[in-house]
Amino acid sequence: MYSMKRELKLNNKEVSQMRGMAGFKRVVYNFGLDLLVASWQFAEVKATDSKRIDNIKKVFTQVTMQKPENSWMKNYPSTIYQSAFIDLKNAVSRWREGLGGFPKKKSKKKGDSFSVYKTAGVYPEKGKPALPFTNRVTIFAGKQIKLPGLKIFRLKERIDFICSSQTFTVSRTADKWFVSFVLGAEKIPPILHAVERAGVDLGVKCLATVSDGSKYDMPLTTKKARTKLGKLQWRNRNKVLGNKKLQVFASNKAKKYYVRLSRHHLRISNIRQDTTQKMTTDLSRKVYNIRIEDLNVSGMIANHKLAAAVSNNCFYEIRRQLVYKQLHYGTKVELVDRWYPSSKTCSCCSHIQDMKLSDRVFQCKKCGHSQDRDENASINLKNAPKDKIRLA
Ligand SMILES: [Zn+2]
Repeated sequence: MYSMKRELKLNNKEVSQMRGMAGFKRVVYNFGLDLLVASWQFAEVKATDSKRIDNIKKVFTQVTMQKPENSWMKNYPSTIYQSAFIDLKNAVSRWREGLGGFPKKKSKKKGDSFSVYKTAGVYPEKGKPALPFTNRVTIFAGKQIKLPGLKIFRLKERIDFICSSQTFTVSRTADKWFVSFVLGAEKIPPILHAVERAGVDLGVKCLATVSDGSKYDMPLTTKKARTKLGKLQWRNRNKVLGNKKLQVFASNKAKKYYVRLSRHHLRISNIRQDTTQKMTTDLSRKVYNIRIEDLNVSGMIANHKLAAAVSNNCFYEIRRQLVYKQLHYGTKVELVDRWYPSSKTCSCCSHIQDMKLSDRVFQCKKCGHSQDRDENASINLKNAPKDKIRLA
């Protein structure tokens, strides 16, 4: 499956329409979550979360939406509240399975999002499946997109080919609006990898060092942007975005500051995302068998001094991307045991010696081999023994 994300080019009227729909989704989601939590207090009610949410949806459509003060809700496509309840179901089941924390209430500060989808397909006969593609929206190449239940919107960047999708999610980060959707699986022709096997050392100094001699760096702009962000936060440390309980309203300057702040965060995460995506794609195209260290990321983040550097270089993110790109590029990602001494072993004579974190060059005391620390480690990862390796 491929997903596509494009920035929308909206005028003021469209922005307020989008804000309205995102607000509607937020209201529905929080309403559902509140009622679900409340329903758990009645011990005599025995029902699954999914059943409970279905009943809450009935209450919402038959009672809440019918109130005269909520008549505004009928201006928006029904798929918005439908998808809000679907989101809530997924969030609760993720939490039940231990995959995520307890669902949080949506708030305006955290950015907005909502989904719309095309519902009805064309059914040739009762009980038979819908005709193919009739429950999907065709997206034409160009700088426009028609969202189901809504009108046509302009895009900032063009879509290059004709495609189709069912569900569209509109989201806001800082003051930018995006639309994203998933395209059906399409086959990619088999790729011949130039390198059969390579070890990749994910480092703090250098983003990734590959055993074939290539390197990937995190661009310097992230560091600059982070410094700028820190200064901005310090200068505005006393700004508060209002307080409902104390009846304090947010000042215009505070509002402006929070938009600027989220723009800064967006820029940093964009640079990071861009770099890691390009790196993992490049690697997956080039190397068939990729070996990376099975790092204890949460343990490293607990170490205060490594934390910033580690989360900055997003080890976990790189591993996740390499793993899911296996399907697209036909690669095989393997994890090397975290106790395997990849940086302490000589890549020439396998002599093991102690290395400090600050030693940047590996100097073998036995054979005199001298090599950059990360390069040496990547070669060791490549040649790691079989019993130290597991599939990712
Ligand atoms: Zn040696």
